[in-house]
Amino acid sequence: MPEFSIDDEKIAHISDQFHVNKSRVELVYKIFSEVIGGVKNQYLAHIIRCMESYIRKETKNPMFQINTFPIASDSQVLNVGCAQYFPKRYFSIFFHPRMDEKQLRACLAHELGHLFIIELLNEGKTDGSKPLDKTTLTEPLSSIFGIFTIMDKNHFYKETAPKFNYHSWEELVQAFVHLQKKTTN
Ligand SMILES: [Zn+2]
Repeated sequence: MPEFSIDDEKIAHISDQFHVNKSRVELVYKIFSEVIGGVKNQYLAHIIRCMESYIRKETKNPMFQINTFPIASDSQVLNVGCAQYFPKRYFSIFFHPRMDEKQLRACLAHELGHLFIIELLNEGKTDGSKPLDKTTLTEPLSSIFGIFTIMDKNHFYKETAPKFNYHSWEELVQAFVHLQKKTTN
């Protein structure tokens, strides 16, 4: 069993360390698993959240949203994403759920590029739900924006994220045991 995969032994250890019944620990794990099950549709979530709040400020529109949606899995359009922009309201990106994950991330970054080039270069703005496609004025700048986006993520995973990792399962559990002692005192 990998170091950070949950199993009966780890459930029992948590139960013991926190003096909580095993079935309660299993219940929390069940709820956690249901919540985290949606993560497959949350690629680039950190970047998207960051861009969303930037656009909210720039356009003075606190309700602006960026969303990503998988299209029907039997769709023939496998390798391209597409986006719709409703200025001041929302930006939606559609992607094929079976697209290769690495390619999907690049595709999302490219589509986000359209939004940012449109907003920040202040040209090619539309007033309705005009779909953005390869013919829009913002090619290839959207791809260049995409490169910077994925570069930033790569830097994060390679240089920054490893510093946040716990080296062992026990080190992780003890961090929370320690936290618990502080919060209950
Ligand atoms: Zn494009």
